Amino acid sequence: MNETRMLIGGQLVDAEGGASFDNVNPATEEVIGPVADGTRADMARAVGAAREAFDTTGWARDHEARKSGLLQLQAAIEAEQEELRAELVAEAGAPLLLTYGPQLDAPLREALTWPAEMIDAFPWRRALPVKNAFGTGDAEREVWKEPIGVVAVIVPWNFPMEILLNKLGPVLAMGNTCVVKPAPDTPHTAARLGRLVAEHTDIPPGVVNIVTAQDHEVGEVLSTSPAVDMVAFTGSTATGRRIMAAAAATVKPVFLELGGKSANIVLDDADLEATLAGAAGCCMHGGQGCAISTRLLVPRSRYEDAVELARASFENWAYGDPTDPSVLQGPQISARQRDRVLGYIDQGRAEGARVVVGGGRPDHLPRGYYVEPTLFADVDNTMTIAREEIFGPVLCIIGYEDDDDAVRIANDSSYGLSGTITSGDVERAKDVARKIRTGTLGLNGAIWYGPDAPFGGYKGSGIGRQCGIEGLEIFTETKTVGWPAAPTT
Ligand code: NAD
Repeated sequence: MNETRMLIGGQLVDAEGGASFDNVNPATEEVIGPVADGTRADMARAVGAAREAFDTTGWARDHEARKSGLLQLQAAIEAEQEELRAELVAEAGAPLLLTYGPQLDAPLREALTWPAEMIDAFPWRRALPVKNAFGTGDAEREVWKEPIGVVAVIVPWNFPMEILLNKLGPVLAMGNTCVVKPAPDTPHTAARLGRLVAEHTDIPPGVVNIVTAQDHEVGEVLSTSPAVDMVAFTGSTATGRRIMAAAAATVKPVFLELGGKSANIVLDDADLEATLAGAAGCCMHGGQGCAISTRLLVPRSRYEDAVELARASFENWAYGDPTDPSVLQGPQISARQRDRVLGYIDQGRAEGARVVVGGGRPDHLPRGYYVEPTLFADVDNTMTIAREEIFGPVLCIIGYEDDDDAVRIANDSSYGLSGTITSGDVERAKDVARKIRTGTLGLNGAIWYGPDAPFGGYKGSGIGRQCGIEGLEIFTETKTVGWPAAPTT
């Protein structure tokens, strides 16, 4: 059964006035079921509950309560892991296979437990040298880290559980309370999490609140409310800008995980055949991943070989029904997103890029918001399809002259989220990596991902890092305290 209620102040509740909206399966276009359609008043009540829980309970100081709360939540999710898996496939169009990896099982393994383990290990106090700054006597000095307070957690639909768990773990471990706003396209998994918090954990009422809403604007309450101390957002760069501007009025810190247009750089000493056998991998989950490398940079001298190898990869790529365990690409999340992707494909053609594979809607999948895996050649880095985040199963192949040219093209982007580099010599790949302005890079097929690995972007890809020590520290405030040093005898 899908959970339809929201979690506010420890209670599972309907929306004010009882309004609901339908959650739709993007693979079938059928209604999965209703879910509460929270209003601004519901969001304000959730903020009030989070504020009260932060100000009046011992949560912020109680390490043991936080550790056990996180571990109870972990156990509760594991107990409903299969229901959650089916729900993710249904509402996000997430290929089943991906739920055994990045969509669910991978984050579930450590996203809550690693921050729980770090609660005691985190450097909450740091002593500074005793100092006599003004000639008025020695002072003992310490730097204290404290929870930041009420954190707004605003998440997108593409990896709804992965992103939510990787925010919730650090936010709660650091002693904060929160209001979660899931995307309207994936409300049921978040609502389920709310029920698990309420019914299967001792996390105090108000520490976690989850408000589902169809209208994006309901989320604005979070960036403008003086009772919210920080906004932690994952989503598009356009929305990130709006949130940052709205948060400026109350001078709250924002932590933004935004879009990407990452480069997959294949150096001229790489095994081109082996590397490009996986070229269509960028179509995973319909290309709806912010860290996917969507610009394939290959040596100009081997350009046509690269196009043919990538063509073979795209032609052999299985896509379709996300419940089919052999596919890695399901539908786009909505008709709107599908049409947006198709619009970019048209623009690519109009600007002179060559469609090598795909380029439209698949005839054999008349239901569901599918787009063909699409490979573009003859792409210049100035074209719209090379500059803007398409968030679809679309790869652009761009030729480069030498390593410096590859670096120049990779960095010639308003984004700076991720990327990959392949070389016959990993030291050469590292040399190139040092010059790439992005927050993460995978060299020679290695995967950097983990709850201990900071993830986030340079430039337009965001501010701050999720996960790792940096991802714990970001949810803290810093207080410097001095007191008279004991007289030395
Ligand atoms: P989106 O920006 O449209 O929405 C994200 C969330 O913000 C949703 O919950 C939405 O309801 C909410 N929202 C929208 N307007 C708001 C407002 N004014 N105030 C408060 N909340 C508001 O993004 P999306 O379409 O859901 O997700 C796709 C985007 O997310 C892509 O650009 C992708 O690159 C990005 N993304 C980034 C990362 C990352 O870690 N960098 C990860 C996944 C997705």
